[in-house]
Amino acid sequence: MPGMPILFVSRAEVPGLLSMPDCMAAMADVLAGLARGEAILPLRQVFRFPDGHGAFAAMPAMLTATGAVGIKAITVVPGNHGTALDSHQGAVLLFEAGHGELLAVLDASSITALRTAAVSGVATRALAREDAGDLAILGSGVQALTHLEAMAAARPLRRVRAWSRDPANVATFVKHARKRLEIAVEGVASAQDAVDGADIVCTVSAAREPVLHAAWVAEGAHVNAVGASLRTDRELDSDLVAASRLFVDRRESAQNEAGDFLIPKAEGRFGDDHIRGELGEVLVGSLPGRTGPREITVFKSLGLAVEDVAAAQALFENARRLNRGTWFDLAGPAEH
Ligand code: NDP
Repeated sequence: MPGMPILFVSRAEVPGLLSMPDCMAAMADVLAGLARGEAILPLRQVFRFPDGHGAFAAMPAMLTATGAVGIKAITVVPGNHGTALDSHQGAVLLFEAGHGELLAVLDASSITALRTAAVSGVATRALAREDAGDLAILGSGVQALTHLEAMAAARPLRRVRAWSRDPANVATFVKHARKRLEIAVEGVASAQDAVDGADIVCTVSAAREPVLHAAWVAEGAHVNAVGASLRTDRELDSDLVAASRLFVDRRESAQNEAGDFLIPKAEGRFGDDHIRGELGEVLVGSLPGRTGPREITVFKSLGLAVEDVAAAQALFENARRLNRGTWFDLAGPAEH
């Protein structure tokens, strides 16, 4: 039986193999492809652990234009924040559709950190005002740092404020922002202080109740709502979602998984048609994005398996070209 060499790409290797701007380009491509119907994307399977301290998700997808097939298998344990372990851990398996070969196993923590922020960067480019540059970040973990990098790639930033509940976490984030990205961030004492006058807001917290309220958000702001990924959880209050022009990564996912949309909908604030459409539709030009400078736009991100597969495919190609990663043979040693 012939060998089955498989490329392993580690967490440490991912950032050097796919830059934020290149990942943003890959995410714009794959979301446009999704809008054109060039993907198979079942809803993800998620279950919580019995005591509720974490969850497991299986996220499969196929990109039909390139023949890339894959699945991300990931655990989410929010309590890991501040320990040596990421709150998101797992692997992306990348296959090719021609003969069904498994090509690569890639670290999922780093892919999730990168691709989620890259998608928010694409949303910000498409939906924020051209002159937006006053950024607020609510949350100070893994996504906070990659979102800072993506927002800096999307718009020239004039000012950055950050808040999370624990000032020590905010201080660590401010330090990492300066050291790793050379961006000055002001740590502030409340979410309201962070968003006051901001024209780009990223909510990247593990909150289950609103951390962002309509009364605080400036006219014309763009909000990337990234944190809450379950139908029971949300980061935005109902007034904010009701007052905004709402875009999602995928309509079907938002209608099944997004507490930020489903909770105000259950309160009778609006119906399914409050979702204007998907980011990919804006990218291919079939849906208008922002329609005026005073409008508040919200991009509700849940995260899609097509994003993981597209990132994995780009990483696989770059690793092969640059001779990085480690090859293993799943078939084991040949028999004699
Ligand atoms: P981290 O664990 O690294 O950071 C979580 C952050 O949330 C910390 O800054 C923490 O800071 C803050 N936080 C925790 N609990 C609460 C709370 N109850 N209220 C307010 N803030 C809280 O997680 P990540 O950065 O990796 O992920 C952030 C969020 O984004 C998670 O909810 C995650 O599930 C979601 N996510 C979404 C993705 C998508 O595609 N849309 C992809 C990946 C993640 P402090 O304790 O100081 O408040």
